[in-house]
Amino acid sequence: MTFKEFHLNTLITDGLDAMGYSKPTPIQEQSIPLILGNHDLVACAQTGTGKTAAYILPILHKILTTENRHFNTLILAPTRELALQIDQQIAGLAYFASISSIAVYGGGDGATWDQQKRAMEEGTDIIIATPGRLIAQLAMGTMKLDHLKHLILDEADRMLDMGFYDDLVKIINYLPKERQTLLFSATMPPKIRTLASRILSNPKEVSISISKPAEGILQQAYLVYDTQKMGLLKSILKSASFSSVIIFSNSKDNVKRLGHELKRAGLNAEAFHSDLEQQEREQILLKFRSKQLAILVGTDILSRGIDVEGISLVVNYDTPHDAEDYVHRIGRTARAETTGTAITFVNDKDMRKFASIQKLIGKGITQLTLPAELGAGPSANQELRTDRPHKKPFKKGKKPK
Ligand code: AMP
Repeated sequence: MTFKEFHLNTLITDGLDAMGYSKPTPIQEQSIPLILGNHDLVACAQTGTGKTAAYILPILHKILTTENRHFNTLILAPTRELALQIDQQIAGLAYFASISSIAVYGGGDGATWDQQKRAMEEGTDIIIATPGRLIAQLAMGTMKLDHLKHLILDEADRMLDMGFYDDLVKIINYLPKERQTLLFSATMPPKIRTLASRILSNPKEVSISISKPAEGILQQAYLVYDTQKMGLLKSILKSASFSSVIIFSNSKDNVKRLGHELKRAGLNAEAFHSDLEQQEREQILLKFRSKQLAILVGTDILSRGIDVEGISLVVNYDTPHDAEDYVHRIGRTARAETTGTAITFVNDKDMRKFASIQKLIGKGITQLTLPAELGAGPSANQELRTDRPHKKPFKKGKKPK
């Protein structure tokens, strides 16, 4: 299939050529005709599948055929990083079509707020917003959304995990009832179904399987006690030449500590977390993208939406709580059919989580032997052999904070 078959406006196909997209991805093949056909849509697809362009392309096409375009489309996204990335993709794809967009997100300084406010007052075709900041702007009455034609929720599951349900409902109350609504989500837990039934009308559904990591990822694991993890991490980072590395930890405090320790060990590393100022976060991502920064440490907030080319290694310093998060995390490497390595640290208490990850991906992950100087790690059956009371199995859909 080619993009030609969608009969998109040539100003948009020019944008596609400039971006180097030669053929549609599966989510684009399935979604674009439905969106062009004015259907509401529930799409199950994770970052990396091309889901952003799947909704941007038909929306741009439709905007070009609309007379009064101001505030035509609202895209809601969970994080400022994702909002900015969506804005950048629109800027690229709409380059020849002169369609305007603005990202509205919290955390910036007063100047950012004023700039966002001004752009809203002047009117823009597409608004990409995080829910909290949009509510603040809506409450100030800086924009009227009564002509809005399209509402898109991107990474809806993550927005609900972050506690945005009430904000979403509030925002939707500002919008006209007559509109096209598209909901994109990496997972489809019942709360997403409930939200969809509340805000969509007769939606079509498309789904792209998310549970298989890209073939190009070499997946490995170490069974390791917590006390051995830092030594192991340093030995991995120092022994091989990984150009661009992401390290995931389950808690913000751990992320800060890891960043600090790696820097002290002379490694080119930075911690990325929500306590940083917006400007610092952007600076860190910019340095990481341009390869001036080699190692980025973060929580699962980095596992979605962050689209950086050429990451050669992902380390799960802590085993992810949710098997699907594992797929998201390691999906940061081996993007666009390149290769990469993903190494997961599994401690004595995480054996069950590790088993459920292997079950989800449908194959075993190679277990490596710890470097001799670190001593012996836990054995594979350790957790299952302990006399502790039986732990509740890990609950799907529950995400670490
Ligand atoms: P997404 O799933 O929207 O985060 O997209 C992942 C990456 O794929 C982004 O870097 C997009 O620019 C890129 N992309 C999206 N659609 C295509 C396509 N049809 N061909 C090549 N790259 C694409």
